[in-house]
Amino acid sequence: MDGLNKSMYDIGSDSAFSILARSQELSKLGKDVINLGIGQPDFPTPPNVVEAAIKALKDGHHGYTSSNGILELRQAVAEDFYKRNNVKIDPNRILITPGGKSIIFYTMLMFGEVGSEIITPDPGFIAYKSMIDYTGSKAVSLPHRMQNNFSFDADELLSLVNNKTKLIILNSPANPTGGVVPEKELKKLADGLLKFPKVYVLSDEIYSRILFDKQKHHSLLKFPDIRERVIVLDGWSKTFSMTGWRLGFGIFPKRIFNYAEKLAINCHSCVNSASQFAGIEALKGSQESVNQMLSTFEQRRDFIVKELNLIKNVECKKPGGAFYVFPKVNKENLSSVEISQYLLEKKFIATVPGSSFGSNGEGFLRISYASSMENLEKFVTCLKDFMNE
Ligand code: PMP
Repeated sequence: MDGLNKSMYDIGSDSAFSILARSQELSKLGKDVINLGIGQPDFPTPPNVVEAAIKALKDGHHGYTSSNGILELRQAVAEDFYKRNNVKIDPNRILITPGGKSIIFYTMLMFGEVGSEIITPDPGFIAYKSMIDYTGSKAVSLPHRMQNNFSFDADELLSLVNNKTKLIILNSPANPTGGVVPEKELKKLADGLLKFPKVYVLSDEIYSRILFDKQKHHSLLKFPDIRERVIVLDGWSKTFSMTGWRLGFGIFPKRIFNYAEKLAINCHSCVNSASQFAGIEALKGSQESVNQMLSTFEQRRDFIVKELNLIKNVECKKPGGAFYVFPKVNKENLSSVEISQYLLEKKFIATVPGSSFGSNGEGFLRISYASSMENLEKFVTCLKDFMNE
């Protein structure tokens, strides 16, 4: 022990970043590494968005902004949310943050404590469990099964709620599976939660625009009966290919907004102002680049799902959203960590083992298809060779 507080020894990390670091090491050694591990679009930020940031800098926007974000940006978020979900949001309930991840961090600090429980998707985005563990709260796994298209079952979820439950975390479309929760399941959950008026929900909707087959997104804020205890997380990273700009937001219930804002003031003060101006343009300007990106993702998804299902002992569902597939890969009882390590060290292809997203992810690999068709073709060939070895 290094004399830090106990919680520091409980916090987890994100294996996608360690896999990225190892891929970079291998690249430096001259290996041609294909990275299907990290979750970020392989497109540049749309040029009109880049121009808006340059203009903001040239116009002298160099200082702190208000801690919750500039009003024009929060208004743009509220307008966009209304357009997409038909729900009016007061811009004063919106907190602009350096990426969506800060909303997870702050929300866990607001709700997590020893003796309480937080229900979290399994498999699910790694940061949820890491942060729950950090707070000392108990992470309760909510299974998202392949046979259920990686959605949850509302009755099963409600059966996990008890008087220690403080928060439920939902994520649709989901990382790592691409699963989309059907509207009827959300409605069932919203109805069931009437019996548990103290339980809040963090709905991570960061992939809300990355949906295929003409599906529509259903925000949890659509259900008026629970609206006052729903926190929505969304942002620009994925939709506008802006992972490095660090721009996200949370919509908080009025009565707890202040606490989230205080965490922001004490932690990041505000998001860099040029990114915020870029965020306005992203929402209000042309959506052409986004639409093109979505149709490219859909073609790649169709390709990779079809090809994976042709490989011996590989089974892959067609995900409804995000840019991941989560195939079940069964090779001589090797664990997903062993398979992922083999693919990286021997075939120079980075993937993320399913088990790093929770125990229900064992036996699966997360493949990000935010990569060129050529890379996806190479991956399919390598996996086929490996499975036939
Ligand atoms: N939620 C989910 C489900 C994600 O996959 C990610 C990014 N991988 C985030 C939140 C955080 O996004 P950001 O880069 O905006 O912090």
